[in-house]
Amino acid sequence: MQIHFSGATRTVTGSKHLLVLDNGTKILLDCGMYQGLGADGEALNRDFDFNPWDIDYLILSHAHIDHSGLIPYWVKNGFKGKIICTQATRDLCKIMLADTAHIQENDLRFINKRRLRKGEKPLKPLYDSTDVIDTILLMQGVDFNKPYTVCDGVELTFTFIGHILGSGCVNLKITENNKLTRFCFTGDIGRENGQLLKQPQAFPQADYIITESTYGDRLHDDIKNTEEKLLAIVRNTCVKKKGKLIIPAFSLGRTQELVFALDKMENKGLLPKINVYVDSPLSVSATDIMRKHTECYNEELLEYIKTDADPFGFNRLIYIQDVAVSKSLNDLDEPCIIISASGMMEAGRIKHHLANTISNPRNTVLVVGYCEPNSLGARIRNKDPFVRIYGEEYALNAEVEIMDSYSAHGDYQEMIDYLSCQNKDQVKEIFLVHGEYETQVNYREKLLAEGYQKITIPERGHIAILD
Ligand SMILES: [Zn+2]
Repeated sequence: MQIHFSGATRTVTGSKHLLVLDNGTKILLDCGMYQGLGADGEALNRDFDFNPWDIDYLILSHAHIDHSGLIPYWVKNGFKGKIICTQATRDLCKIMLADTAHIQENDLRFINKRRLRKGEKPLKPLYDSTDVIDTILLMQGVDFNKPYTVCDGVELTFTFIGHILGSGCVNLKITENNKLTRFCFTGDIGRENGQLLKQPQAFPQADYIITESTYGDRLHDDIKNTEEKLLAIVRNTCVKKKGKLIIPAFSLGRTQELVFALDKMENKGLLPKINVYVDSPLSVSATDIMRKHTECYNEELLEYIKTDADPFGFNRLIYIQDVAVSKSLNDLDEPCIIISASGMMEAGRIKHHLANTISNPRNTVLVVGYCEPNSLGARIRNKDPFVRIYGEEYALNAEVEIMDSYSAHGDYQEMIDYLSCQNKDQVKEIFLVHGEYETQVNYREKLLAEGYQKITIPERGHIAILD
């Protein structure tokens, strides 16, 4: 058996690894999009390291676009196999891939105007909503912790990993020539004390492991005081300053974590009497899917819904889909909380909310996630005195608060704890993917110190032969 490393090698996006069995069966693990790399990423996304029509099966770890975003493109170009993922991942892919198709069409409208002016050929989107429908039809949702036969000699079990709703660790038992190989692809690893989801679960003993390394050199802020800090920011902004609290947040995960935290405050009578708006169509759909998949909830949330059937809804919480309603918030002259996407503030409705609020010192922008260094989010995070939004310059007079305890990825200690269920002597090799190279080198040292035997940091194109 071989593993061909194709994406998320020495970088954090484009997750894609191919297992080739001795009998020629090809199983692709993830088919993610490269993101945030500009023209280089665009070229990498259009490139095929393998023929899509040659792949027999695709196993998807979770619905994030850097893991799932190219599947419709591969389907459009000839992939016809089964796509196996958890039930919640299948539901999320319906909305997230459709959203990605939509974003591409919008982005290309601007890019192509410029290209046509220069006499260049217009670019076509990687795929459209029809390709997304074709993709969903190939998807087979399976339950966590129930072995599923992929094909003769290959058995798959997803175990909980707590990264996002539906995210699973891919555990494979592969029997070839009467020999069993135990293989694990962790996908992205979640938090030990996640706000909503089941904790990362011990996974079956593996001979070979492909694992992520995003925060291989970092420890997160303590999660314990997160809710107290959030409440203090709400009170300072909305009661003391009588301003608006703007929270840019990813539609899936971060938005529901924030809403759940506010729901708890409301039930305890701690939340000031102000309206809370969740303004993003994708957030609204993602929250509906979150409500449906209680099998992924942690103990606290399962206990909570016994007394409050909707942990993502309370009287003064208003979900907004309609653009006109979203824009009407600009005229609102009263304290409120607005949670909107995108988290890095580069796209989506959050931009008009920021343009409307950041010059007023009564307001606060609360940054709760990682922002890519070139993004608007990073400039606000850095408290640049002036920032450009829609081509216009705005003075950043609003307060900027940062809470780094919210993260969907475990830090290095949480990743080491996650792997600690393994008997190290039986793990023949660990492959580090989904991390920047320097971080990976650092993390490799930590894993070697833990007693693991062989740690490889594959480059794109690396082929590992498993004995
Ligand atoms: Zn992810």
